[in-house]
Amino acid sequence: MKNFIAANWKMNKTIGETREFLRSFIPNVKDVKDTDIVIAPPFTSMSAAAQEIKGTNLRLSAQDIFWEEKGAYTGEISPSMLVDAGCSHVIIGHSERRQYFREEDVIVNRKIKAAKKAGLGLIFCIGESLEEREAGKTLDVIKREVEMGLAEVDSDNLVVAYEPIWAIGTGKTATTEQAQDVHAYIRKILHNLYGNKSEEIRIIYGGSATPDNIDGLMACQDVNGALVGGASLKPESFSRIVNFKRV
Ligand code: PEP
Repeated sequence: MKNFIAANWKMNKTIGETREFLRSFIPNVKDVKDTDIVIAPPFTSMSAAAQEIKGTNLRLSAQDIFWEEKGAYTGEISPSMLVDAGCSHVIIGHSERRQYFREEDVIVNRKIKAAKKAGLGLIFCIGESLEEREAGKTLDVIKREVEMGLAEVDSDNLVVAYEPIWAIGTGKTATTEQAQDVHAYIRKILHNLYGNKSEEIRIIYGGSATPDNIDGLMACQDVNGALVGGASLKPESFSRIVNFKRV
């Protein structure tokens, strides 16, 4: 199975900064063969990023999507617009969207179905809050998010990102044991849903992944990659992550 490492830039980087990052980053990762490398810039930088990565081993992801194809939806962007802009993937269900924009499981599922219909690969995010973890509800939350998000959805071109909310942008990474335990559980639920086909699904970790902890995380049996926020904003740091060493 190929590894999958994606940069979620969130609301960071102008067009100029996007070009500058990619011109410095691409030479550092051009020989990477066994990892899919995906960059998710803000919408305004998508076109510049698409030009910069042409002919390279990098691919583009959007950070969000709307489920309708066109019409009176001020501010929204449709699945086919993303494909037209050069995206191969889209992040859906990120905890920041669940938290600040009230995207519940039903909305997440609607977005997932629309993205799949357009042929986009999914980076489907799930994860528990600190409160839920401390109340012993982690596995229940994970089960609900997976089953509701993926209701009536096949497993093709699906990447599941486990992102404990308490680890996102906080500098508190899950321990390798915590990550492995939840990843193994996700693998089990995916197996219940998809049988043997589930073995092709990459389950990636997100939450304060850095050059210092990536090697340990990638050594876990069920960690097949990473979704990286803060540490993906500097070319040196993100290229070290992409060039991780399995310890
Ligand atoms: C994210 O937002 O997807 C993320 C993992 O952020 P960070 O790496 O900054 O915790």
